[in-house]
Order: sequence, then structure tokens, then C-alpha cells
Amino acid sequence: MNLDTYFKVSYGLYVVTTQSGDKKGGYIANTLFQVTATPPQFAISCNKDNYTTSLIQQSGVFGFSILSQKANPALIGNFGYKSGRDFDKFHGVSHFKGKTGIPIITDSSIAWFECKVNHFYEVGTHLIFIGEVVDNGILEEKGIPLTYSYYREVLKGYSPKNAPTYIEKEKIESSYSHISNQADVWQCQLCHYEYEEAKGDPISGIQPGTSFLDVPDDWVCPICGAGKSLFEKE
Ligand code: FE
Repeated sequence: MNLDTYFKVSYGLYVVTTQSGDKKGGYIANTLFQVTATPPQFAISCNKDNYTTSLIQQSGVFGFSILSQKANPALIGNFGYKSGRDFDKFHGVSHFKGKTGIPIITDSSIAWFECKVNHFYEVGTHLIFIGEVVDNGILEEKGIPLTYSYYREVLKGYSPKNAPTYIEKEKIESSYSHISNQADVWQCQLCHYEYEEAKGDPISGIQPGTSFLDVPDDWVCPICGAGKSLFEKE
């Protein structure tokens, strides 16, 4: 078995949202696809431990927004690496109320869908919900969708532990074998993003060769928005 094979499968990246009563939930998903055209239905695979999963079970509706390649990394961090049980993920994030009353994210997204759950299946650690489209819209006509491979290869993000595509970090080190051993690497303890001193952080304009200690104190992890204090030297 070659674990790198799993990274050859292509995915998009989405923010899945829902609401039950006054409780809003949302998370970053890559396992989402259209299953039928008539009626138009999409499937999502959600970890049973996720707060949003229980809210979708209660509400029977979910929305998803297709993230832009220019998505704000802090939004991915909030929705991908933190739990809505103890944190308001929607604070400061632009969204509107859809037809079914759930929040639909417009921030960092190029289009959105709202779906009513028709079927669900229990698959070990995950629940697969299949929802029929009740509404949709385009936010940025020419926007480029963020793909999982761009997220992984360019932004250097990993799947969080509850994602269907999560693979233990030790096992995926082989796919990062191009990383130089010459300069220090600092890792975000929240999302596993690695700041490589040899490469700097092109997203924030940190020049290659910049020691992590010389990175400005207000710099944050480009993937999850964590501060410098959450980084540890590899
Ligand atoms: Fe991070």
C-alpha cells in the first residue's frame, strides 16, 4: 500500500454550514460531490464527532460555499481547526440567511448551494448526508475554486483529524521529502502548517531565509490564524 496514492485523488474545498434552533454550525469539507442531476443532489461525509454533524441531523438542511483560491486563511483556520461548541465561528464572517433559515457563508467563496437532506447513511466514523438543492447562487463569476491539492501543495495545509481524508502526520512525511534540512522548520501546533525558514512565507511577504525568530510578532499562521507562540521548532 502506498499512502501517497491517496493524495492523487482530487477534491475541492468547501465550508459546510447548518443551523438548528439558534445553534449555528460550520466546518471545512473536501469530501463533497454531486450524486444525481435529477433531482440535483449533493453528498457530504461528516465525522460523527463534529458539532456540525449533530446540527445537520437535527435540522435536516445544510449549505455549502465553494472556497476561492484566494480564501482568507483565517477563515479556513476558524472553520477547519476549531470547534463550534466553544467558539463562534461566524463572528466577523460575512454570511446571509438562506431559504431554509441556515447561514450561508459569502466570505472567501465563489458560489454557494443550500440543500435539504433526503437520505443519510452511517459509514463507520462518518455520516453521509445526501441533500437536494433548494437554492444556489454565484458570488464571484470568474473566481477560481480552491482545490485540496492547492491547499496541500501551495498553502501546505494538512487535513484535520476528523476529516475523512486524514492520514497520520508521520505517514505523510514522505510526501514532503523535498523540504530542505538545511534551515529550521517550525510547526503550527494547531493545524500542522510548517514555516520553513528556507522558504519564508510568500503569502505574508516574509522573505526566504528569514529566521522564525525574526518573523514579526503579529504574524499569524497562514492556514489557521494561530499566533507565533503556537509554533514549535521541529
Ligand atoms: Fe496553523
